[in-house]
Amino acid sequence: MVADNEKPETMKEEEDVKETEKVPVWDLPDVPKGTLPPHLQLHRTRVICTSDAPTHTENIRYSGAYASMGVDNSLQLEDFRKKFKVEVIKLTEDDMEFDMIGIDAAIANAYRRILIAELPTMAIEKVLIANNTSVVQDEVLAHRLGLIPLKVDPRLFNYMSENDEPNEKNTIVFKLHARCEKGGSRMTVKSNELLWLPGGSELILSTESSTQDSTSKTKTYTSFNRSQDSLPELSNNIITPKHDEIILAKLGPGQEIELEAHAVKGMGKTHAKWSPVATAWYRMLPEVVLLQDIEGEKAEELVKTCPVKVFDIEDIGRGRKRATVARPRSCTLCRECIRGDDWDKLVALRRVKDHFIFTIESTGALPPEVLFTEAVKILEDKCERVITELS
Ligand code: SF4
Repeated sequence: MVADNEKPETMKEEEDVKETEKVPVWDLPDVPKGTLPPHLQLHRTRVICTSDAPTHTENIRYSGAYASMGVDNSLQLEDFRKKFKVEVIKLTEDDMEFDMIGIDAAIANAYRRILIAELPTMAIEKVLIANNTSVVQDEVLAHRLGLIPLKVDPRLFNYMSENDEPNEKNTIVFKLHARCEKGGSRMTVKSNELLWLPGGSELILSTESSTQDSTSKTKTYTSFNRSQDSLPELSNNIITPKHDEIILAKLGPGQEIELEAHAVKGMGKTHAKWSPVATAWYRMLPEVVLLQDIEGEKAEELVKTCPVKVFDIEDIGRGRKRATVARPRSCTLCRECIRGDDWDKLVALRRVKDHFIFTIESTGALPPEVLFTEAVKILEDKCERVITELS
């Protein structure tokens, strides 16, 4: 063994280099510790909206992006836990607006996509037309029926595969019979004419004879073993279209529509009629900053410029008036306030990169807050599947 003082200089240097290789670069003693310089911190956390285009739109995810400045950019679970928040801003029967704070745009977008395409609902898939003498063609009528949102919890039903018989667990049957009497005035057929048949189809498919007891049994288009209204979840909630006033067709005197519509469970990625949301969208939190005091006529000009009334005027005494940012959340980023006359030196428009204002508009099958929790479960399942496959 060679003593330290006997080692050649080159050997010592090599060992020093090996030692430093083991330590992350931001932990090296000569690297300054602390936060990023303000301009870099701004670019890291905000999208800057200039008069012609947004800049710094990308998310910097590389853990060593700021290593030379002693800042660790890696994602720490503990930091995420502390920062992540969901705040509900508005909740009605059909709409919900909430803030998701502390997440990446990719996660917000994953929820949006799951809500639109991967949450199941029930929608009319098969239409059996017994009679249609209206001017609306059969296939157009079937398409219109498919797009009617149904007020029923899809979690009570199973998916129906190609080989499955339609039964009380995978099919909902409605009938519609509307006739405009001869000599009467034109009539409008609306979605409220669809009547739920809890016992299944009433249209006869065939008649099967039993040779032994010479009785005959009629077979319909569904094979229900029990009535759907005997299920505890449906006994007090009849299944109807969510909206009564959706126009399906107009009938002239003597015209008639008689049909049966079968609804099954599906997802928006197969057809938009199964999507549980009218829209699901998000935007980054707007940030409007006055870079210096704007007073007097200029302040009034600024207030008038904004179409959504983001700015207000405050009285600062001795007859002086100053512009303030009163409602930054309403900013639509139209950029009117930074056009011309060096206004961009007075007003800065930004977006907070990890703060999302998320809006869900349900079509009516499930309340919006339930839709979001279901979307969370789906994303959780996906993550678990990835972990299982990797381990
Ligand atoms: S960008 Fe448009 S909406 Fe936003 S503060 Fe300026 S003028 Fe108002």
